[in-house]
Order: sequence, then structure tokens, then C-alpha cells
Amino acid sequence: MAKTKTTFFCQNCGAQFPKWVGKCSSCNEWNTIVEEVIQKEDSKSWKGPNKEKKNTKAVKLGEITAVNEERIGTCNNELNRVLGGGLVKGSVVLLGGEPGIGKSTLLLQIALRMKNKVLYVSGEESMTQIKLRADRLENSNENCLILTETKTQQIFTIAQETVPEVIVIDSIQTLHTDYIEASPGSISQIRETTSELIKYAKETDTPVILIGHITKEGNIAGPKILEHMVDVVLQFEGDRNHTYRILRAQKNRFGSTAELGIYEMQHTGLREVDNPSEILISEKDADLTGTAISATLEGMRPLMIEVQSLVSTAVYGTPQRSCTGYNIKRLNMLLAVLEKRAGFKLGAKDVFLNIAGGLRVEDPAIDLAVVSAVLSSNNEISIPQDICFAAEVGLAGEIRAISRVEQRIQEAEKLGFKKIIVSKFSKIAKKNYNIEILKVSKIEEVASLLFLD
Ligand SMILES: [Zn+2]
Repeated sequence: MAKTKTTFFCQNCGAQFPKWVGKCSSCNEWNTIVEEVIQKEDSKSWKGPNKEKKNTKAVKLGEITAVNEERIGTCNNELNRVLGGGLVKGSVVLLGGEPGIGKSTLLLQIALRMKNKVLYVSGEESMTQIKLRADRLENSNENCLILTETKTQQIFTIAQETVPEVIVIDSIQTLHTDYIEASPGSISQIRETTSELIKYAKETDTPVILIGHITKEGNIAGPKILEHMVDVVLQFEGDRNHTYRILRAQKNRFGSTAELGIYEMQHTGLREVDNPSEILISEKDADLTGTAISATLEGMRPLMIEVQSLVSTAVYGTPQRSCTGYNIKRLNMLLAVLEKRAGFKLGAKDVFLNIAGGLRVEDPAIDLAVVSAVLSSNNEISIPQDICFAAEVGLAGEIRAISRVEQRIQEAEKLGFKKIIVSKFSKIAKKNYNIEILKVSKIEEVASLLFLD
């Protein structure tokens, strides 16, 4: 019997150590080093289906003919958009997200809708469970094969027999390879099984999609080392209690990471949301205080997003500040600006802020809507529903211009808004908009625009 070999891995970042240490020198986390058995028999390791050597030689840049990567469309516009136009042949895509968010549903649905032959490998669910899920999705693809298997060697054998055009693995944490003795889900297993799958993808030109679970604490082994190995990292997010899901790329070797896919969770599966602005704005007829609508951009796509705010007198000494979908530090900064530059006394008030639809917004253009929503709640005066905002707020209380303002104006116009408030410094070339463009330069002007006339 071969001698058992072990090594030490950081469960947080995947760094390898020859002996146990208390603190990981790579990510500075304490108590994350765990011993794992790695008895690897190199001679038996998977060599891939193509035994003949590829001819590798160096060539001049001019001799390389530029060809666009061959892509496979997924019959899912939102996913295609985020991927940059479909699955690149031979690429490995990691779909990460918290358990229960709908990763399996999304990929099974895509597998069932695609025209191409898909091998859907599940180590999470039984055949019956997958069948029940597929029935709920009301789709059937004659070309979709289901396999419940966790051993990579077995998966490759089946793949060589069936020759699928796309492989889906649900999930990478359940896989194990014969050549390593650590348990499934451990760093060494994840690293090894992923590198086998990458090898398979590159040598057979078959795209492979991996599902990877990530908890809120991020302490499930693997995700971070996985991110470095694969070509594309997609994050599937959204609150489990909300019906909307956001798909975004964190890394994409074949496209931009700015694009965003939006889905609505229904009992028949995930519906693609083609016009997100309409769903992100709630009850339009209600005359509520504390809401303001912002014309933001997510990737290349304009989105009208509703900001909700509640300002109330603090009951206890220290006022509470709470945010959902927006950076709390940024909110505190905006409140300080309001206090200092515009004379609003918010120091003794609780401030709660919420971005409707469970979205997380990073676009600075939402600042002005945040400020306006806070003022609206504080002054108990509602903002007319046909006004929207698109500007950044600076530390001096100045209203700053944001990128691609015309695209935002067009979206607001399209959705029937009557007025949009932007910075005085915004460069707008086109003249004849069917929407009134109000230009402001200071926070006080916004307040008087909204509440004094
Ligand atoms: Zn570490």
C-alpha cells in the first residue's frame, strides 16, 4: 500500500503549507489551516481523450489569423448577455451563489431549452428529484441527458460515450477523483477535480459549467481557488425572499464584466426580465413620502431604480443607520453632507434606506435619489412620481455629472417620466427630448426644487 501523504490547506484562500500554522500568511486569516490527505498516484492521473501530442510551436503575431471565439448560444438572452454572447467553446464557467438561490434551477432550465446536446451531471439530487424539477420547469429537450454521478473518471467515461456539446456540473463540491484521498468538498479535491474538468474542456472543446456553493461567510472550501482556475466567474445573487435574481460576471476572459442579467423567480422557473425598469419601480400611483427614482446604469443597460427611505426621530441615544442594497458608508457621508452643507438636522434621526427589488447598486448616479428620498421622508412631502434623478453628490454638497447621461435620459423618457434632475455640468448634445431636463449644481437647489414650489 502506498504511503499516505498529507498536506495543509487554508480553507479560506486555498494556500498550501508544508506544516500546520495558526495564521495563513497568504490571506491573514486565523485558524483556517486544515490537514488533508492527498495520496496522489501521478502515473494513473487522467490524461485526456487525445493521446497524440498537440504540435506546439512559437509563431509571429502577424501569422496568427484573428478569429472570433466560437460561441454556443444558450437560448437565454440574459445569460448570453452576461457571458458576452454565449458559451465559448472549451471554456469553463463557474456559477457561484448561496445555496437555495436558484443556481440548479437556472442551469437545468437552460439545459432543457438549449438546442445543443447537454450532459447535466448532478451530485446533489437524485434522478427523481431532477425529473420533478424539470416537470415544474415545463420544458423538455430530447438532447438533454441527466447523470447522477460524483466520480470524475466516471463522468469522463460517460462524456466520451455520449459526446455532449455542453456539460453542466451540479456542484463542484460534490465531485471527487480517484487519485486523491481527501473527502469531497475539501480544497485538494476541488482543486484536482476542477483541473481535470478544465483539461477535459480544453482538449475536447466542450464548454463546462460548474456550480459552486458559497455561504455568506465564504467559509466553504474552494470558491476562491476556483475563481483563479476557471475562465468565467458568474455570481448569482438576490435575496431569497425577493423574487428577483441578478446574474453578474466577476471575471470574464471573453467579455466585459459590466453586464447584468435579471430574472424573476416564478413557480415555473426563472423568467428573463427584458425590461427591468418596469418591475423595479413599485406602486406608481401611491402618493408616498420617502421614495425617489434614480436613472442608473448597470453595465450597458439603463435601469430605473426606486430608492425608499424612512427618517424618524431616534428613540435611543445613538441614531440608527441601516441600508439594504446600498453602501452604508456612502449613506453616512451623504447624511453628513446634508447636515453640514444644507442645514438639515438629521443627527438625532434614525435613517433607513432600501433599494427596491433586492438590488445592490454601486452606480454613483443614485446619490441624488438617495438624498432626495431622505429629504422627502424627513420633510413628509412626497416627490411627484414623474420625476427622476441621475447625479452624484460630492462632499461639498455639489451635484456632479455622471457618465452616459443621455442614455439615462432616454430611458426615463421612454418610461414616461416628465422631469429628470441632473447636474449642471452634464454634457447633453441632443436638444429635443420629450422630457424636461432640470439642471442643478448644489444640494440646496434640489431641496427647493422639490419642496418649495
Ligand atoms: Zn488563507
